[in-house]
Amino acid sequence: MIFDTHMHTELSFDSSEQITKILEEAAVKNLGVITTEHKDLNYLEVGGFPIDFDVDEYFRLYEKYRSDTYLMGIELGLDRRYTDKIREIQEKYDFDIVIGSLHTMDGINLSSRKYFKSQNEKDFYRTYLRYAEEMVRDSSFIDALAHFDYPTRYSGFSELRYEAYEKELSALFKTMVREDVTLEINLKRPLIGEVYHSFRSIYKGYYENGGRYVTLASDAHVAEDIGRNFDEAIKLADDIGLEICYYKNRKRVLCDR
Ligand SMILES: [Zn+2]
Ligand SMILES: [Zn+2]
Repeated sequence: MIFDTHMHTELSFDSSEQITKILEEAAVKNLGVITTEHKDLNYLEVGGFPIDFDVDEYFRLYEKYRSDTYLMGIELGLDRRYTDKIREIQEKYDFDIVIGSLHTMDGINLSSRKYFKSQNEKDFYRTYLRYAEEMVRDSSFIDALAHFDYPTRYSGFSELRYEAYEKELSALFKTMVREDVTLEINLKRPLIGEVYHSFRSIYKGYYENGGRYVTLASDAHVAEDIGRNFDEAIKLADDIGLEICYYKNRKRVLCDR
């Protein structure tokens, strides 16, 4: 069974979806699902608002639904000033998967269109990719690294290509392989046009540096979006030779299909 390893429900600030709707949709689509609610401890400081949820409540409310096909995870915003705190959180609770995200970079909100207006594209991407490598080293306890293309969605910059940032990306991928961190395929955007060419080059680069595993992630905030663009992602992974996996009890499991 294929698993969708990244989605949000009403416990995340930006979703009002119910877990029961997610489970109904998962059954219809014959998918395993993992909820990964948002926790970004630093977001208030970067000019945002608290992005948090009560993890005890999460387990209290959702544990009863847990099964072989519904697993429980978390999406943690990485920030070196909070590494100790997030390490504690992921150790304390019985998650199946811990996803690490770069929603911010050294106190900068990476979804701020205003910030990108003053940035040079090449300099930004180099800095961002080096930062991503540092964050994976710093928080190597994560299972998967989410949406490498997050800033691209808000910056208006060109889609990333492996060839254009080979030095930074090969360093990032080598660190991921060494620390056994999986590169997520985030499918919020359809794999067409420039996005497709970008993803193809990035995941090929990941493979060339020893990466063998990917997780599939709709990043759905409503039930109907779970499994979105999965057919295209499965084809991409197959073409490159990457294995599709999910995590259960913090251990990688290959999807059989
Ligand atoms: Zn995210
Ligand atoms: Zn997410």
